[in-house]
Amino acid sequence: MSANHPHIVQKDDPVLRGKAEPVPISEITSSKIQKIIKDMISAMAEQKDGVAIAAPQIGVPLQIFAVSGDLLSKADPDYKGGAANLVFINPVITKLSKEKRDMEEGCLSVRWYYGKIRRSVRASIKAYNERGEVIERGAGGLLAQIFQHEVDHLNGVLFIDNAKEIWEMTEEEIKEAQGNNNR
Ligand code: ZN
Repeated sequence: MSANHPHIVQKDDPVLRGKAEPVPISEITSSKIQKIIKDMISAMAEQKDGVAIAAPQIGVPLQIFAVSGDLLSKADPDYKGGAANLVFINPVITKLSKEKRDMEEGCLSVRWYYGKIRRSVRASIKAYNERGEVIERGAGGLLAQIFQHEVDHLNGVLFIDNAKEIWEMTEEEIKEAQGNNNR
């Protein structure tokens, strides 16, 4: 592992508890920000269960999160967006449905716990994409849950702060998530 290898920080790291800073719009396409996005995506891709990641999780206190379209498509048959990764910069949640549901949730920075948390079933978000274009989209299902989880990260909030129930994953579940085999 090189010194620059992106590393996912764990829950006691203060970077996860601060408020992430917005990215200046003119810098979105800079090599510095593009490198951060690339590092986030590679850190996420190394985790078999990594469906999304926020910049503070690799130690960068900026308002950026990324979603794996590939894992999202596999996990949520209602998601029709394909395998392309999604990147959200300076995201703002513009709408949350009144309808809420208890959802199971885990976090790459809270290994190896799982919990049940009450979230809106639909959410809309406004942000910039990695090309600096304004995007606005509504989502249901897993993507709506991800929007809420990731925007929480950018505000220094972890799901364990609001979960109604938290449990430790069993060895079996951890193995399954890690995929510690050669496939
Ligand atoms: Zn998380």
